[in-house]
Amino acid sequence: MSQFSDIEIARAADKLPIQEIGARLGIPAADLLPYGHDKAKVGQRFIDGLKDRPDGRLILVTAINPTPAGEGKTTTTVGLGDALNRIGKNAAICIREASLGPNFGMKGGAAGGGYAQVVPMEDMNLHFTGDFHAITSAHNLLSAMIDNHVYWGNDLEIDTRRIVWRRVVDMNDRALRQITASLGGVTNGFPREAGFDITVASEVMAILCLATDLDDLQRRLGDMIVAYRRDKTPVFARDLKADGAMTVLLRDAMQPNLVQTLENNPAFVHGGPFANIAHGCNSVIATKTALKLSDYVVTEAGFGADLGAEKFFDIKCRKAGLRPDAAVLVATIRALKMNGGVAKADLGGADAEAVRRGCANLGRHLSNLKGFGVPVVVAINHFSGDTPAEITAVQDYVREHGAEAVVCRHWAEGGRGVEALAEKVVRLAESGAASFAPLYEDGMGLFDKIDTVARRIYHADQAIADATVRQQLHAWEAQGYGHLPVCMAKTQYSFTTDPTLRGAPVGHDVPVREVRLSAGAGFVVAVCGDIMTMPGLPREPAAERIRLSEAGHVEGLF
Ligand code: ADP
Ligand code: MG
Repeated sequence: MSQFSDIEIARAADKLPIQEIGARLGIPAADLLPYGHDKAKVGQRFIDGLKDRPDGRLILVTAINPTPAGEGKTTTTVGLGDALNRIGKNAAICIREASLGPNFGMKGGAAGGGYAQVVPMEDMNLHFTGDFHAITSAHNLLSAMIDNHVYWGNDLEIDTRRIVWRRVVDMNDRALRQITASLGGVTNGFPREAGFDITVASEVMAILCLATDLDDLQRRLGDMIVAYRRDKTPVFARDLKADGAMTVLLRDAMQPNLVQTLENNPAFVHGGPFANIAHGCNSVIATKTALKLSDYVVTEAGFGADLGAEKFFDIKCRKAGLRPDAAVLVATIRALKMNGGVAKADLGGADAEAVRRGCANLGRHLSNLKGFGVPVVVAINHFSGDTPAEITAVQDYVREHGAEAVVCRHWAEGGRGVEALAEKVVRLAESGAASFAPLYEDGMGLFDKIDTVARRIYHADQAIADATVRQQLHAWEAQGYGHLPVCMAKTQYSFTTDPTLRGAPVGHDVPVREVRLSAGAGFVVAVCGDIMTMPGLPREPAAERIRLSEAGHVEGLF
């Protein structure tokens, strides 16, 4: 086990100037827009010039249903990218940027961990290249323009009780969830109820991650629904003439960020939409650029495969025309034990029987992934306490289910510890076995799409919804939104909507509480259970321990 913390390992990294990383991908220095010495954005002119090049192979890293700590998807993505480079492939990774809020709350960083990290990790977990600030600004410009429009006479006849566009801030701040705005007299406008979400929950974030270029970005921003009139007809961002100025604010944020791993391999870190009310993947522009520049692109989708992989396939790949060649399903002995019924407090003890029981969860994800026509290999993200009997239990189970489970030691050893997985991934990807297809056709009804995900992916008996939800979906179909994919928002801890039901439950229904239309991003969100769009801080937030050392280093971030 490593005796160094993530931030100590990251600080000791032998980083190359970012121009050298760019040069390895064939990006001329003139087309890199450097942010300091170790970060750069890739210029649009260069990206435009890549159109006719062939694409590399796309590998998705996903996971079983996680424990609250996360199962190591990011670390595995980084380690696999490094290992592919070690065995002679040109590989790049594509991951999401980090949100500030959670870093000051509980969660560790988003840059991986141990010897499988992206650097500079402090920057990546703090302001980075300012993309999230730009998204916050663009979002709030629209918010301000809505209230301003009402103030100056409300020509669009916005019903101020039906303004659905909230405000955002990139902080965990529960005090802002529900507020009353415009108090204090006539010059401050018309008082109304309002509220804040965290920036990553903004539809602007989802749009930035799905847009193919700046024109597409502006069109999608204009398509966003911000409010309804008394007759329930929608008011669009375009009606407020906000889309042009928002695009200006987002121009630089649209360009993918290039950084490096600890082993000096290229890493695109761009965008970071929530994995519940949005699709939870890095940007399409970063993934497509990386595919033009590398033989292999390894990317991660948020949460377990029931949510993350499904949305990656059914939203991102469908919309961007991406065709994944293989998937890596990450599992840990710890999480398998929890899925096998062991309580969090008892995870320390060896229990191969519980691991075996928990494999039911893994097996279901395995067959779900194969259902998309993508070949799968299981990565056992090795923790120091794992016993040989527990590992054998997983390997036997996976073999019985027609796949292979490879032990991965990237956290402790870097790319060297995960070469066996890299070899396997190459064999799978180059076998030509992939025949990717999304789960449902565009033309299927919206409720049927939700029901299809519930039955085929969650193995539920059915999705259920009351008449209001069904009528809303029919209304959107009538308005021309019926072709959109659905974006499921449910707990990541279970196949069901009950976070305590681990393993591979059967006999459950999936109740759809509410549906929301993200008309600009291009999906219909099905809310199944509680979803949090503005987190709070814990009793003792990590912020209490974060400070600058005398040497000027960030301490306590991880
Ligand atoms: P995910 O992407 O699935 O949320 P991460 O890769 O970010 O998970 O890992 C979550 C946390 O667990 C990180 O802090 C990471 O350092 C830690 N971690 C991951 N793998 C290991 C491991 N094999 N041993 C110890 N800690 C690990
Ligand atoms: Mg992650």
